[in-house]
Amino acid sequence: MSNNKYKILVVEDEANICSFIETLLETNGYQALVANTCAMGVTLFSSHTPDLVILDLGLPDQDGLELIKAVRQRSRTPIMVLSARTTEQDKIEALDLGANDYITKPFGTGEMLARVRAALRLNRYSSASGLPSGTFTAQDMTINYERRKVFVAGQEVKLTQTEYNIVAFLSEHAGRVMTYAAIVKAIWGDTDVGSTKKLQVNMANIRKKMGSRPGSNNYILNELGVGYRMIDEDTDAQPN
Ligand code: CA
Repeated sequence: MSNNKYKILVVEDEANICSFIETLLETNGYQALVANTCAMGVTLFSSHTPDLVILDLGLPDQDGLELIKAVRQRSRTPIMVLSARTTEQDKIEALDLGANDYITKPFGTGEMLARVRAALRLNRYSSASGLPSGTFTAQDMTINYERRKVFVAGQEVKLTQTEYNIVAFLSEHAGRVMTYAAIVKAIWGDTDVGSTKKLQVNMANIRKKMGSRPGSNNYILNELGVGYRMIDEDTDAQPN
């Protein structure tokens, strides 16, 4: 095939949701591939190497989590879970297995398309090797990776090394929920559950220093009980 459209594999067993997503993707310029079972999803993943997988968890043959495990053994292709399961534990489990994002049903089409764009950008970034360079911007916040400095409205925010590392890590995965465990592992290199407390203390300081107040723009969103997400310009609505 000679077109250069992004290929998106949709693994979903409910026919009406499946065709809805397929139409939504195709009318927005993506190529959609559809699998109705976990096994078929794994097969199509291998044969078509899609750029993104949108995955339902409740599948007739196996739990969709099995597909995340199978894909993660060989590839970093972004996986977006789309599920009716809404508990924190379900989200944490999927994210910790390597899913990049989690949307609960029912979902809005605008939200889904924004998250698809964010996930595909993630794919581009992760295929480029090496450390992040240049800058990251969200609203009036800028991170300069080379100088390891963060600015809000042009003013430098004085962060400790650890605080900076957390902010930079979240920005490298902007738009994506990072679980507490994933952040702790990236920053401190350990998997001790108690370290979540350290993270929360650092995050409270970061929020204070970056001037997030109730009702103001927050750059880092708390996905309660799950993790944190740096806002992404394309995914999150602009302030009025
Ligand atoms: Ca299902």
